[in-house]
Amino acid sequence: VKTLGDLGEFGLIARVARIVGDPGVEIGIGDDAAIVRIGGGRVVLTTDALVEDVHFRRGWETPRRLGRRAFAVNASDVAAMGGIPRASLLSIVAPRSESAHDLLEIHRGFAGAAREHGAPLVGGNVSGGPVRMISVTLVGEAPRRPLRRDGARVGDLVFVGGPLGRNALARERRLAGARGSRHPPLPLPSPRIVLGRALAERRLSRAAIDLSDGLVQDLEHVCAASGVGAELELEAIPLAPALRRLARDAALELALHGGEDYELLFTAPARKRAAIEALASPAPVVIGRIVAGSGVVLVDRTGRRRRARPAGFDHFGRGARGRRG
Ligand SMILES: [Mg+2]
Repeated sequence: VKTLGDLGEFGLIARVARIVGDPGVEIGIGDDAAIVRIGGGRVVLTTDALVEDVHFRRGWETPRRLGRRAFAVNASDVAAMGGIPRASLLSIVAPRSESAHDLLEIHRGFAGAAREHGAPLVGGNVSGGPVRMISVTLVGEAPRRPLRRDGARVGDLVFVGGPLGRNALARERRLAGARGSRHPPLPLPSPRIVLGRALAERRLSRAAIDLSDGLVQDLEHVCAASGVGAELELEAIPLAPALRRLARDAALELALHGGEDYELLFTAPARKRAAIEALASPAPVVIGRIVAGSGVVLVDRTGRRRRARPAGFDHFGRGARGRRG
């Protein structure tokens, strides 16, 4: 193994995990965010970078909207722990030729979204560099009992917070070369902070992840961390309205593997189902269950089962460039 391409994104993370960490940390590397004791309290910590031509393209949306997106995708990781974002930091790398107005607009968009969510922008950093990169750090309030990737148990139902595939479709159309005003801007994710908080505080769920890489891949992360398998009922997966004009298989492909939904995927015992469905409108949807074993199995309407192919986003996999993270 010589390069990151040989190792893959998740192989790299597994090796990094052996370097970082401290037994005193409540939740460390390997979840959507860390939970750490500081003084007498506990905080949620997360960081993420958005890189030009990997996570976003110039011209696909305004700089202000890009700033809002940068906040939202990080807040989604805090939501996946059941936390509440409370403060934010923004570091930007950009080339010397960068428009000063655009850079300030990214800050305005970010700061606006951060303020609306009660997590004001309190500082950051700027640096020169070859491409535009936006790095975000969020600090949040930790719930008493966090939602964890390793909290799924055999017999749990698998829920998703809302319909899937909308962002993947918009991105696919953009990448297919369509440009100009015929295309609506990429959907802006709404971090599911209220839902995540309710699931944790009302003890309705123990396990959650936010859907960034794709339903199958993110569910596999939960399964691997929890030492379980999962069955997904294809008929039950809620598809975004924009997908309804696609052929069924193409729509399902986007919902299963497209990524960037920033919905919550979580598991809970069946007895909690009614309370969970009453939490939000539209209600979270049951799309499968946790079983003994490993990996994700797809079950079609006739009951036929097949193992989900291990597809999703890998930053160092083939074809990673120009896609997401
Ligand atoms: Mg996440």
